[in-house]
Amino acid sequence: MSVETQKETLGFQTEVKQLLHLMIHSLYSNKEIFLRELISNASDAADKLRFEALAKPELLEGGAELKIRVSFDKDAKTVTLEDNGIGMSREEVIAHLGTIAKSGTADFLKNLSGDQKKDSHLIGQFGVGFYSAFIVADKVDVFTRRAGASAAEGVHWSSKGEGDFEVATVEKADRGTRIVLHLKSGEEEFADGWRLRNVIKKYSDHIALPIELPKEHYGEDKPAEVEWEVVNRASALWTRPRTEIKDEEYQEFYKHIAHDFENPLSWSHNKVEGKLEYTSLLYVPGRAPFDLYHREAPRGLKLYVQRVFIMDQAEQFLPLYLRFIKGVVDSNDLSLNVSREILQSGPVVDSMKSALTKRVLDMLEKLASSDAEAYKGFWKNFGQVLKEGPAEDFANKEKIAGLLRFASTSDESGEQSVSLADYLGRMKEGQDKIYYLTGESFAQVKNSPHLEVFRKKGIEVLLLTDRIDEWLMSYLSDFDGKQFVDVARGDLDLGSLDSEEDKKAQEEIAKAKEGLVERLKTALGDEVAEVRVSHRLTDSPAILAIGEADLGLQMRQILEASGQKVPESKPIFEFNPAHPLIEKLDAEPDEDRFGELARILFDQAALAAGDSLKDPAAYVRRLNKLLVELSA
Ligand code: ADP
Ligand code: MG
Repeated sequence: MSVETQKETLGFQTEVKQLLHLMIHSLYSNKEIFLRELISNASDAADKLRFEALAKPELLEGGAELKIRVSFDKDAKTVTLEDNGIGMSREEVIAHLGTIAKSGTADFLKNLSGDQKKDSHLIGQFGVGFYSAFIVADKVDVFTRRAGASAAEGVHWSSKGEGDFEVATVEKADRGTRIVLHLKSGEEEFADGWRLRNVIKKYSDHIALPIELPKEHYGEDKPAEVEWEVVNRASALWTRPRTEIKDEEYQEFYKHIAHDFENPLSWSHNKVEGKLEYTSLLYVPGRAPFDLYHREAPRGLKLYVQRVFIMDQAEQFLPLYLRFIKGVVDSNDLSLNVSREILQSGPVVDSMKSALTKRVLDMLEKLASSDAEAYKGFWKNFGQVLKEGPAEDFANKEKIAGLLRFASTSDESGEQSVSLADYLGRMKEGQDKIYYLTGESFAQVKNSPHLEVFRKKGIEVLLLTDRIDEWLMSYLSDFDGKQFVDVARGDLDLGSLDSEEDKKAQEEIAKAKEGLVERLKTALGDEVAEVRVSHRLTDSPAILAIGEADLGLQMRQILEASGQKVPESKPIFEFNPAHPLIEKLDAEPDEDRFGELARILFDQAALAAGDSLKDPAAYVRRLNKLLVELSA
């Protein structure tokens, strides 16, 4: 062994310690995946080297044929992986094999329960990576040398996977990384050519780089030199014809590029020829990553130009609302020295973006129609993100709308399972609008007085309770030619759903109650924009409607929470003339008492709408006074 200098012992970042502990204990039943992870890293390292070599061809000196070699030593109980990829400098070793750079990691780890089964799912969501080596090894040595660095600048990293690791400077003859796993007792099975070959075939066949194992010589004399044998297919998966690729290969390829542990939900593999030439392989993940809502979270596709890896996280090929999509795009039209800046704009990228967006939306449509159960899972994970679509992507608004799922009055469970097509299919004779109501929670909206008339007439109403919903609806005006109508807004016009008699009766009542309307206006004064007779109510005495152009409660709350000034708006007070309380009110001769009662009804209506009262103490005082009078 060569001389080691500048040796130091460093502690792992706390998050790494937690992750190590968790990984070793919760992924044990899946231990062979360590090989997949290390091969995946070696393949990434080869990609990075090829990319850097575009500008600096001398980096490839000493071996332009990139490959991975996996060997083993039964006696020493070791498995060794060696690549001639980009390698790492000392700083890189310390950063990459001592910390976790993902934002939100600490928060993520806090969510772990200690229950191994549950945690193994969560950890899959997080991504496994290099540290999985410690599932089977009780000591790991990494020898690495950055491409372009001298033999004297090799680095030796070593750890037992507990609290700390050692780094030292060491001679290394070749560029790249060699990882030596010292197998735990009980894991000797991996120091075996047959076992390694099987694991590689199973998980890493799709790796574009040749993966070599020492040739086995059964019953023959072993030659003096090791002969190496390629065990994987070693061609870029996306370049192969669709019909020749097995589902398992697509799945394993996904895990490699997405750094995910679980299978994808669906994929779409396409070769485009014509004015533009490119191949895309797009995946819908099976589950949301832990950092879906982190602004800095990685997103975008892996970009290749003519098979050469160019960059990870090329964000320019898909809109933000499809940021959960993973995949590869390989273009023949872009230049090998394309940069992020160049990708920002340009006709090639623009037209690829719109075509890829269509592909994803088509893939989701197909998933929804072919596998409702899977689509449900998709919606749970990514529905909120997809809801950003109509605002961002005007051109595909209708298509996106078709992919949305809502809770509705048709389903007591409150599950978001109703599509707009389902809704249209259930519309009543004469109905030409899509009705919806937004609010805080399903429990709150499902009992809203705004729904009374719809219940009575048996008309379905979509119930929208996600924070983003009111904002979403401000971008969706219609679907399939049917207008969306917020049932809590404006002067509800049920169109031909109300019969001529209904309408006549409504007009007559409105006329008859003009006096009461005036008295209420005086009593409620500045609090309301308008007072009118309601056609929405059957059981409740009164309700607050939102003005046609005013912000709804949800948007107001969002703006307030973000510290913005919210424009003043007053509600419309609508009352139910048939309700006994309103009849009582109408008959009240004393204007003071009338005023008190009117205020109580107004506050109650605000409460029922999920709003908070400006002066709750005054409400309680009034109500108590009334209760005392009643019982007196
Ligand atoms: P990920 O692959 O998701 O980035 P890993 O835990 O698998 O996370 O690897 C951590 C980092 O260590 C990699 O991003 C890479 O920078 C570095 N690394 C790991 N293996 C190698 C290797 N064989 N060659 C060069 N760098 C490597
Ligand atoms: Mg990795």
